[in-house]
Amino acid sequence: MARITLDNLAHSYMAKPGSEDDYALKELNHVWEDGAAYALLGASGCGKSTLLNIISGLLQPSQGRILFDDRDVTHAATAERNIAQVFQFPVVYDTMTVRDNLAFPLRNRGAKAEYVAQRVNEIARMIGMEEMLNRKARGLTADAKQKISLGRGMVREDVSALLFDEPLTVIDPHMKWELRTQLKGLHNQFGHTMIYVTHDQTEALTFADKVVVMHDGRVVQIGTPEELFETPEHTFVGYFIGSPGMNVIPARIEGNRAYVNGAFVELAQGYGALEGKVEIGVRPEYARLSQTEGLPVNIRRIEDVGRHKIVRADFFGTDINIIAGEDDRISADMNRVSFDAAHVNVYADDWRVKGAA
Ligand code: ADP
Ligand code: MG
Repeated sequence: MARITLDNLAHSYMAKPGSEDDYALKELNHVWEDGAAYALLGASGCGKSTLLNIISGLLQPSQGRILFDDRDVTHAATAERNIAQVFQFPVVYDTMTVRDNLAFPLRNRGAKAEYVAQRVNEIARMIGMEEMLNRKARGLTADAKQKISLGRGMVREDVSALLFDEPLTVIDPHMKWELRTQLKGLHNQFGHTMIYVTHDQTEALTFADKVVVMHDGRVVQIGTPEELFETPEHTFVGYFIGSPGMNVIPARIEGNRAYVNGAFVELAQGYGALEGKVEIGVRPEYARLSQTEGLPVNIRRIEDVGRHKIVRADFFGTDINIIAGEDDRISADMNRVSFDAAHVNVYADDWRVKGAA
């Protein structure tokens, strides 16, 4: 197992990149702590696979270094890096049995037959394929083949890190939950450094100790699920995480007030002069409707989603969402909204600005 350091890393698929836009991965400095479980979360095309393939050595970065502990592996081959990687689609040997597929990475490293047999059985149990060990992989469903790929990724105990690139895409929803739990269990048991790529926030938040959020080739925040919820460092994190996401409202800041169309919202902290596009961000959970308190709002629609209600509204020309309790009665005259000052974040050009007490 290893601590993985990314030092000044950047990647462009172009031979002669010019501007920053030409980089699929913008300059990045980050340390993945030894033994932690990370999720790498972001929309399709934001650079997740690019980053993962650089870590595993499938791709050479155009700039920067990768260290495993103190060893520079930037130019080391994949095999030398001692990493297990599982991809979105199955990679299995069709002519081999399920057992031989699972045993392959161990035999390849010269493991003893007795250990191989025991470890293969253990993994087969985890992926629910004990009954199929003697079958050829050929003819199995995509779902089953992907489980073999996952099993192969997990079979070695001596890897530096385990990398998963959206591994549950072809798995049916029920088994998804089951396998994700198994992966989490595997992490708790062996403490491998794990990086799990996904575009699904639920998957990320349930799997990882820390979530690395990427947007447009950039890491915009690394934090615990709670940090991503309470203090999104970038507006993208605010609306990508949460359901619905954070409300982002254009505003003008003066001290500890945010002015929206002449009216103002109280802030918990004070701010100096801000440049660029200035906005406040407040999660629907921290907005409240009332008849008397707060600023005017036009309710457009109320959706009952079971656990709570989502109120869709217009706030000075900006669409916002408000979460109300399952049993709250929302009457037509509740046309005011107030925000919990301690949970209103301030953004300049999409990045969070820290206030002063
Ligand atoms: P993700 O895994 O987050 O969906 P990728 O890392 O696959 O994103 O892609 C990031 C960006 O790099 C995308 O704009 C994609 O089109 C581009 N890209 C990915 N692979 C290649 C490649 N082999 N050649 C050129 N561009 C690529
Ligand atoms: Mg990808």
